[in-house]
Amino acid sequence: MEINNFIKTIMEDDLKEGRVNEIITRFPPEPNAYLHIGHARAIITNFELAKAFNGYTNLRFDDTNPAKEGQEFVDGIIADLKWLGYTPKNVFYGSDYFEKTYEKAILLIKKGLAYVDDLSQEEMSRMRGTLTTPGTNSPCRDRSVEENLKLFEEMRQGKYKDGEKTLRAKIDMAHPNMNMRDPAMYRIMHINHHRQGNKWCIFPMYDFAHPLQDSFEGITHSLCSLEYDNHRILYDWFIEKCEMEHVPHQYEFGRLNITNTIMSKRYIKQLVDSKKVSGYDDPRMPTLVGLKRRGFTPEAIKNFILSTGLSRVNSTVDSSQLDEALREDLKLKAMRKHAIVHPLKVVIDNYPEGQIEYLDCPNNSENEELGSRKIAFSKYCYIEQEDFLEEKPNKKWKRLAKDVEVRFMHAYFVKCNSVVKDENGNIVEIHCTYDPETKSGTGFEGRKPNGNIHFVEATTALKATFRQFEPLMLDETAENKDLDFMEKLNPNSLHVYEGYVEESFKDDQIGTHYQFVRNGYYILDKDSTDSNLVFNRSCELKSSFKL
Ligand code: ATP
Ligand code: MG
Repeated sequence: MEINNFIKTIMEDDLKEGRVNEIITRFPPEPNAYLHIGHARAIITNFELAKAFNGYTNLRFDDTNPAKEGQEFVDGIIADLKWLGYTPKNVFYGSDYFEKTYEKAILLIKKGLAYVDDLSQEEMSRMRGTLTTPGTNSPCRDRSVEENLKLFEEMRQGKYKDGEKTLRAKIDMAHPNMNMRDPAMYRIMHINHHRQGNKWCIFPMYDFAHPLQDSFEGITHSLCSLEYDNHRILYDWFIEKCEMEHVPHQYEFGRLNITNTIMSKRYIKQLVDSKKVSGYDDPRMPTLVGLKRRGFTPEAIKNFILSTGLSRVNSTVDSSQLDEALREDLKLKAMRKHAIVHPLKVVIDNYPEGQIEYLDCPNNSENEELGSRKIAFSKYCYIEQEDFLEEKPNKKWKRLAKDVEVRFMHAYFVKCNSVVKDENGNIVEIHCTYDPETKSGTGFEGRKPNGNIHFVEATTALKATFRQFEPLMLDETAENKDLDFMEKLNPNSLHVYEGYVEESFKDDQIGTHYQFVRNGYYILDKDSTDSNLVFNRSCELKSSFKL
């Protein structure tokens, strides 16, 4: 799928009119958590647009707030990009520009466009005014250039405590755009930076640092989500007043939201820290590592993102669309193997004790290239509980029942003769006979079976755990709309079942994708052991989306 959106049109025009000679973009995550599917929109948009014009994309860690950042997240983000199939031209760190950024701050002070303020953060926000009333000038606003230079240098040297002084841009405290009311440029934080150590105790704010970083790197189109649109005026102000040689431009696009899905790093972190999930890569998580473990493929995510398009407004997409993209991708790629999630034991009374035979089974009936394998059949098998009813209820029942004959997929016709129940009346075992004349592939055409069901031979079967998932978040309703998100967690988001799979899974690699007959797409999880395989259901076979 080719990328096509309003930003592409802007880029085409810029190239045509000679405003730029090439397209250079960047993806600028803050390394304070793992990336989520919303970030995939930003990544794919930046990389695909640059690629469409033979340009390139940098990965730039926006690591100017050391309080929450760390190497674990830097490594995680690099791995996520690689998994999605994107290689940045350069990997840069905002913190590498601290010296150059500092020099630009000095320039603004010298031009009378920045000052050191003694006000506390609370006082500053109180004096900022409101949307309808202008702000009030700080008593420090008219400090001399010399005094500001001296104080700012002292800030850098560590003479002041956190919050004691702030460097602010001197713009207009009555500006209709609140972001222009003398925004903070530097704050003091005595804290260890994951790359700079203790070299700095003053850190530039995003609004000041980001445009300069874009300019240093020669970024032509600085793409970001919509919440930055009323910061663009400040972006342009810093570029102009800092006399930046290269002039980048900011463009905003709508954020991606998905139904029943948390799309904020803050909330995602809260889920992990409160142990509501097993980690960032819990298969229920909207993180890229979570989606990967759930069984999503980079291709499915890319197709999903491109199919949702890109607009200037935020959008909410139904989560079933993501599942649909995965089904599309896996349909011909995944092996269709046999797994029994809710086992019911079958005894074939007329099959010789101790004998096992192996039958041919295609790995994907719609894709011959995936080849075939052997599956076992013997006197003891498992079928799905839901494939058996003691009494055939009606003509539509195309599965097994007493006195009814079905085909065991790729094996024989099997007829049920009797059932064994426990003291509570639950069926624990069924007794059947098979017809040796009906072996699959022999062209037997004597009778028509009442359906075709899958099975797993019991003595060679491997034990398996199946995880099935519901959305982490409950549906949004009028009643729960205003509740804290932790109270909207779905208490039933994880279901675990113990069953069996066929022997051929034995040598499969963690991360292999499967389609389990009638049940869904699954992936082999890293929690598997030699004696028990663990599978995560990636999605169901058909959309369960209800209108
Ligand atoms: P969050 O709001 O989840 O904390 P963020 O925007 O603070 O995310 P950043 O690390 O700053 O996270 O994001 C890197 C880039 O990804 C930014 O350009 C941001 O605009 C973009 N981005 C983040 N979330 C989304 C989303 N849901 N849809 C589109 N772009 C997004
Ligand atoms: Mg952000």
